[in-house]
This record gives sequence, structure tokens and C-alpha cells, in this order.
Amino acid sequence: MFKGFAGLDKGKTFRPRRHHKAGTKRYELHKYAQATLGAGNLHDAVTLPDGEDVNEWLAVNTVDFFNEINLLYGIIAEFCTETACPVMCAGPKYEYMWADGQTIKKPISCSAPRYVDYLLTWVQNLLDDERIFPTEIGKPFPSDFMEHIRNIFKRLFRVYAHIYYCHFERMGALGAEPHLNTCFKHYMYFVYEFSLIPRKEELQPLQELIDKLMADDLQRFGGGSAAAATVGVAAPTDACAGAQATSPPAAS
Ligand code: ZN
Repeated sequence: MFKGFAGLDKGKTFRPRRHHKAGTKRYELHKYAQATLGAGNLHDAVTLPDGEDVNEWLAVNTVDFFNEINLLYGIIAEFCTETACPVMCAGPKYEYMWADGQTIKKPISCSAPRYVDYLLTWVQNLLDDERIFPTEIGKPFPSDFMEHIRNIFKRLFRVYAHIYYCHFERMGALGAEPHLNTCFKHYMYFVYEFSLIPRKEELQPLQELIDKLMADDLQRFGGGSAAAATVGVAAPTDACAGAQATSPPAAS
């Protein structure tokens, strides 16, 4: 379902994709997830398969979503520059400040490309950390695994928020809008299924869009919803340059 878009070639990948080792449980789950996605119903695609370990399922999907967001950001990366996006924001109301709690403890304000680079490097390092994402058979996940997963999903969401607010027109012009919406919808189904972003404030910048995408699905896959026709899709324009935060910046 996600392979038809011509712009998604490897040359545009922002950083190397993470792979699942062939022959492992995780590889099998990855293949299963891909196949279910192809069937079109995103709710089924995010549901934990019968008898499988929830941590393994979270691990596989975290890697897959990370790869997907890499690709999406890669599409507009050349337009997301220090000049065009001097602040990591989602419109004029939301600014994101970066802190990883280790090398950068006090949240810093930075440009969008710098923030995204910090963020994706931080995720990549976590994915490569055997203590958090063990690949050895029988090695348990750490007790704070869920905390790491929640943190990753909360932060990756901000890349979507930035793309929607600051690069939506460009995505549309490149013909990538349907793909962006499908990827984001899949992401949100997963987030809701496992309560990965419990604080509603974090979702606020895209809440209207989320409601619209979900309502569309309700109509398509059952339930029906009159609200679907009345909620407008948030289609912000390139409004990031010079954005001032009017709400408390989201750090951590
Ligand atoms: Zn940008």
C-alpha cells in the first residue's frame, strides 16, 4: 500500500533504514505487519497478532515507524532549512525545544532541521541499544521499555506536526499528500491502540486532522459518522519562519 509513491526512493532516505534480521521473530512480525497493512484496514494492521508478545510487536513497529518517518521527512528535507524553519514548530502556537536528558539537559530552542537531526539520532541510538531493544533470543526487554517507547512516539509525532504545519503544501505539490495522510493515520491508530501518547496536549496541534482521518475511516469501515463531512482537514501553509511560541514550549 505504501510502495506506490514514486518519490520514495532510497536516494531520498534521510538516514539509513533500520532492518529486521531475516529469520528472526521480529522479521516475521514485520512481514506480517506489512501484509496486514496491504489489506487496507489500519485497525487490523495495528492489533497485536494472536499469541504474540506485546513488547516484540512494539519493537518491530517502532523500527518500522521510524523508517517511515525518515522517508517522509526525506521528501521535504531539502526545503526544511535553517532559514526556512529557524524554529522547530507546529504553526505559530507550538514550539518544540530539544533536550535528551543526557548530553543536553536543559531544553534548547533550535531550528527544525537541527531538532529533527537530534531527534532521529536519539531514536536511532535507542534502537541500537541492546539493553533497550534486545535482539538476542531469550533476552528480556527492560522493565522501563514502555517508558522508552512512549517517549519515542511522543517525539516522533512532532516530526509529523512540523511536516503538516510547515511543509504540507510542498508535500501536496510533490504528490505525497495521500501517502503522508496514510502514514500518519497508521501511526495514530498504533498510538491509540497502545496508549503511547497519553497526554492529550501533545496531540493538540494535529487533533482536528486526527479526528477527520479517523472519522473518514469510520464511514468506510463501519459505524458511519455524520461528523466526518463537517470537520475540515487542517491544511496549514508554510508559516514556520519567524514563528513565535504563544504557548509554553514543549520540552522533554
Ligand atoms: Zn521545516
